[in-house]
Amino acid sequence: MASVLTEKMSFPSATTTMRLFNTLSGETDELVPVDGKELRMYACGPTVYDYGHIGNFRTFLEIDVLRRFLKLTGTPLRHVMNITDVDDKIIRNSAAAGVPIGEYTAKYVNAFFEDLDALRVERPEVIARATETIDRMVELIQKLAEAGAAYRTEDGSWYFRIKSFPEYGKLSKKDLSGMEDGARVDVDEYEKDSARDFALWKAAKPGETSWETPIGRGRPGWHIECSAMSMKFLGDSFDLHAGGEDLMFPHHENEIAQSESVTHKPLAKHWMHVRFLLVDGKKMSKSEGNFFTLRDLLLKGYKASAIRLALISVPYRHQLNFTFDGLADATAAIDRLRTFYDRLMKGAFPAGENSEVQEAAKKARDAYFAALANDLNTAEARAPIFELVRLSNTAMDQGKFQQEDREAVKAVLADFDAVFAVIEDRDTGPTQRAVEWAKAEGREEDVAPELLAVGLTDEAIKALLAERDQAKKRRDFARADQIRKELTQRGILIEDSKDGVRWKRK
Ligand code: AMP
Ligand code: ZN
Repeated sequence: MASVLTEKMSFPSATTTMRLFNTLSGETDELVPVDGKELRMYACGPTVYDYGHIGNFRTFLEIDVLRRFLKLTGTPLRHVMNITDVDDKIIRNSAAAGVPIGEYTAKYVNAFFEDLDALRVERPEVIARATETIDRMVELIQKLAEAGAAYRTEDGSWYFRIKSFPEYGKLSKKDLSGMEDGARVDVDEYEKDSARDFALWKAAKPGETSWETPIGRGRPGWHIECSAMSMKFLGDSFDLHAGGEDLMFPHHENEIAQSESVTHKPLAKHWMHVRFLLVDGKKMSKSEGNFFTLRDLLLKGYKASAIRLALISVPYRHQLNFTFDGLADATAAIDRLRTFYDRLMKGAFPAGENSEVQEAAKKARDAYFAALANDLNTAEARAPIFELVRLSNTAMDQGKFQQEDREAVKAVLADFDAVFAVIEDRDTGPTQRAVEWAKAEGREEDVAPELLAVGLTDEAIKALLAERDQAKKRRDFARADQIRKELTQRGILIEDSKDGVRWKRK
C-alpha cells in the first residue's frame, strides 16, 4: 500500500496560500518564505530528562502537520529542532543517577526519536544539540555584555537586564509596568507571571557539569540555548518559530530579548503556539493518574496511528481534551479509511467514470486544502475526506463506481495521507518495539495480554502445544499448566476437546 499512496504526485490548487495565526501580530498572517526560496523554521524540541508524554507529542505532531502541509503545497523547508540536553532537571537527575549528563540523556534522546518514528513525525532538516552549541551561546552573551544588556554577578553568573529591552513583553502582551529592575531568577522553571532578569549563564557549582569558557566556568541558561541554536542554523532573522503555549512566556519572550538586543532584527516573523492538551478535562499529572507517555498507550494496545489521529484531529489552537473514547473513535475512523482503501484498490469496477464521484472528489480535495490553508484546521480538513469515502462506498454498493473514479479518489486520499499519515498501516513495528522495551525495562505487567501474542508465530504456538501434550503424557502437569498459562498471558485461547487441542488468538 505504501508505494501506491506515496507515488502519486500532488498538485496544490492555485488558491492554496497558507495562513497561520501569528502570536506576535495577533492576526492570521500569510506564511511564505521571506527570502522567496525556503521557509526557515525553528521548533523548540524536547528537554531529554524523561520519556515524552502525549502533551509533548501533541505539540510535535501539530508542527509535523504544518511541515507536511507546507511540503504538500510545494514549499521548500529548512526546519530546525533543538534537543535541550543540558538544563536544571537533567543536571539534577543525572547527578542522582550518578552518571554523566551525556550518558543520562542518550537513553531519552533515542527514545524520543523512536517515539517520533512511531507517530510518523518527520525528521526536521536539522537537529541541533545544546551541548554542541556552547561556543555560540558564549559569543552571544559576550555581545549582550558589550551592548549593556547583560551583567555579571558576584558568583560569576551572567544575567539579561530586562530593562535594557523596552520591547520586552511584545510577544506575550504582558503588562510589565510593575517590573522591578535587577530582580533576578536563576532557575529554568519559572513562576509564570514574573518578569525578572534571567540567567544567561550559571556559574559552575561543585560537582555540576560545566564548561570552561571566556566568560567563566559554567553552563548556559535554557533561553540562550534556543537563541544560539536558531540563529546558528537559520540566521539572525527567520520565518517561523514554534512551540507549545507554555513556551510563549518567558522562554520565547526571552529568546526575542536576547537575540534582538544583539541583531536589532526581528528574530522570527511568525510565532506559532500549540494549545495544551488536557486528559479527561484536567491538566495531565502523575498525581491525578491521568499522565500518559506514548509508550503507556501503545502497551495498552492502542495503535500508533490512532494516537496520531486523536492528537491532530483537533486544530492546534483549540484545547484538546484527550479521552479513551476519543482514542476509540480515532481507531474506528482509521479502520473505516483502511477498509475503504482496500476496497478501492481491489474492487473490480466497470470502465468509464461517474460524474457524480468525479465532482465529489474534486470538491473534497478543494475543501481539504482550503481547511488546512486556513490556520491548519484539521477538523474541517478531515470532514470532506470521510464524506467522499461515504459517497464512494454508496456508489460501489450500487455498482455505479467506475475505473476512472478509482484514480480520482485515490489521488485525494494520497493528499490526505501526505499530511494525516494514517491510512498506510505501519502500526505493527511501533507496538512490537514498545513490547520489547517493556520487557527489557521489567514492565511486562503493563503490557496488554493480546500484545504479548504479537510476534508469536503459529509454528511457535503449535510447538508449545505439542510440548504441553508431551508433558501431559508423562504426567508432568506442572509443566503443562505452565505452558497453558504462558500462552493465555500472551493472548492465546486454548480449548481442549476430544479431537485434540483447539487454539485461537484473542
Ligand atoms: P519539554 O520537553 O517540557 O521542553 O516540552 C517539549 C514540548 O512539549 C514543548 O513545546 C512544550 O510546550 C510542549 N508541551 C508540554 N506539555 C504539553 C501539553 N500538556 N500539551 C501540549 N504541549 C505540551
Ligand atoms: Zn526553545
